[in-house]
Amino acid sequence: MKLIAGNWKMYKGPAEAAEFCLGLRDEDLDGADVVVCPPYVSLAVSVQLLAGTEVAVAAQNVHWDEEGPYTGEISARMLLELGVYGAIVGHSERRQYFGETDETTAKRARAALAAGMFVIGCVGETEEERETGQTEQVLQRQVSAFESDDNLVLAYEPVWAIGTGRTATPDTAQEAHLFIKSILDVPVLYGGSVKPDNAAVLLSQPDVDGALVGGASLDLESFIAICRAGANIPS
Ligand code: PEP
Repeated sequence: MKLIAGNWKMYKGPAEAAEFCLGLRDEDLDGADVVVCPPYVSLAVSVQLLAGTEVAVAAQNVHWDEEGPYTGEISARMLLELGVYGAIVGHSERRQYFGETDETTAKRARAALAAGMFVIGCVGETEEERETGQTEQVLQRQVSAFESDDNLVLAYEPVWAIGTGRTATPDTAQEAHLFIKSILDVPVLYGGSVKPDNAAVLLSQPDVDGALVGGASLDLESFIAICRAGANIPS
């Protein structure tokens, strides 16, 4: 079975999140390992409505301090108080638009793991980096910022594949995952335009341990289809 994580980004306020979670709750996910990552304001309702189901709830980021003068940030302790069990860190949109670096990503991951949270750490090269032969160098640098932990998974998300409809080929994903695991031996999810029609072939790669899904996780039917694909492929 593979882990399927839905990253809602800045979509679905509390009302829409509630509608989605109520729908998800009623579905048979074939025992899939599933997590949804709503925006902060929709975490509470999602935790409440998914309590007692097999679907976990994680945040899209987390700060490294327990509390402090950090406008706009949220700590692991606050998330845990809400019943949120994990967080994404280092998503390429955070790195690209909000100045997130390997260093801040590592600090966020370390603090969340120390607090007992599950962490999805994102890595991945840009199109220019791939075209100029820097993929391995970039992955080496980004992956090395993390430390191995039982509650850490990484997500290989080539930036050129995120939200573009361009997916890495199964071979490209497999090759990158194997390289990442040679640096840090943790499960690695693939992210980048995963859809119901390409999920099974990507998830069938031996070192693709799951998927981090953006756009296709916003629609209940397509998310369920990807979850079922993940449930039916052995790890
Ligand atoms: C993501 O946001 O992590 C992502 C992979 O997005 P999409 O599936 O839309 O490419």
